[in-house]
Amino acid sequence: MSNQSTANSDGVHKIVIIGSGPAGWTAAIYAARAQLYPIVFCGIAKQDPGPILPGGQLMLTTEVENYPGFEHGVMGPEMMAKFQAQAERFGTKVVGEDVEHCDFTKRPFELRLSNGMIAKAHAVIIATGATANWLGLPNEMRLATTGGGVSACAVCDGALPAFRDQELAVVGGGDTAMEEATFLTKFGKTVHLIHRRDSLRASKIMQQRFLSRPNAKVHWNKAVIDCIGESHLEAVQLEDTVTGEKSTLAVKGLFIAIGHTPTTKFLKGAGLDTNEKGYLDLKQRNSYTNIPGVFAAGDVADEHYRQAVTAAGMGCEAALDAERWLAAQGIH
Ligand code: NAP
Repeated sequence: MSNQSTANSDGVHKIVIIGSGPAGWTAAIYAARAQLYPIVFCGIAKQDPGPILPGGQLMLTTEVENYPGFEHGVMGPEMMAKFQAQAERFGTKVVGEDVEHCDFTKRPFELRLSNGMIAKAHAVIIATGATANWLGLPNEMRLATTGGGVSACAVCDGALPAFRDQELAVVGGGDTAMEEATFLTKFGKTVHLIHRRDSLRASKIMQQRFLSRPNAKVHWNKAVIDCIGESHLEAVQLEDTVTGEKSTLAVKGLFIAIGHTPTTKFLKGAGLDTNEKGYLDLKQRNSYTNIPGVFAAGDVADEHYRQAVTAAGMGCEAALDAERWLAAQGIH
């Protein structure tokens, strides 16, 4: 393949990092500084059904205000560009291909790329993240990608000035929806929780936390069937899931909290342990998977925190774990 400079003379990379969000870039910074000459497969932009971009979920976020070190906030794409530049500064090679299949039964490992080529590596860090699930409405995606008031992350976007003292809505009935809705009650005038059934899946304590807020309101048995607004959301159209009756709710912000899907399709049959929801299962509190030499970091292995800063921390751990593991194999 074209990036032989990161590979040994036998064409085998010491370390390959799959994924280019905070976890992947942080792993690359640490691996590059350890002179492991990492190569990052940063992926190809696609719709699946929502947009998936190299750089991950932060590419779909506007301002990030909770990443330490950016006192006045930073735009998500700008932050990912800075992460990448820092990784490249220390010699990381970046390749704009997807990894489509991994063969971890061979040593070195073999990764099949979207251009048909095979990359070989002694160690692999999987940092492919997760993608928020979307409702799949045409206007939802348009407004989400243009900062038009639709978001899949209230913790990332909810505190923006555009949402202050406004009518806001959250879709979903799980713990994430409760957490996001409770967070939004600090900023919004009213937070409307829209749920498709008449009972919540969320834990009682999380439900209580939201329901006890004076500006919380629940709309039971309602599905969002359209987002109304040109450049910015003005209202959502609802349909009663029992009677079919349609109604309109005026809101300036819509937060979709209907779960995430870890990006692990390309690992099908690769022999990695996952939990019941498909997230990679890590061994104790480190980045080791069940296959020696394969490490994981970030949202693909973390269904609970899913923050840029936690993903970056996990990326650091994975690079340190990989470096030590490689050294134990005599690969420096
Ligand atoms: P979840 O538990 O799977 O809940 C997803 C919610 O979205 C459900 O209420 C579901 O409705 C609804 N939903 C799914 N597809 C939908 C659609 N197409 N249209 C409308 N509604 C839809 O996911 P989660 O809330 O993200 O939680 C994931 C895991 O993380 C859970 O294990 C949770 O406990 C954990 N978590 C924990 C915390 C915490 O402890 N602080 C915080 C966040 C998450 P139905 O109920 O009708 O299926």
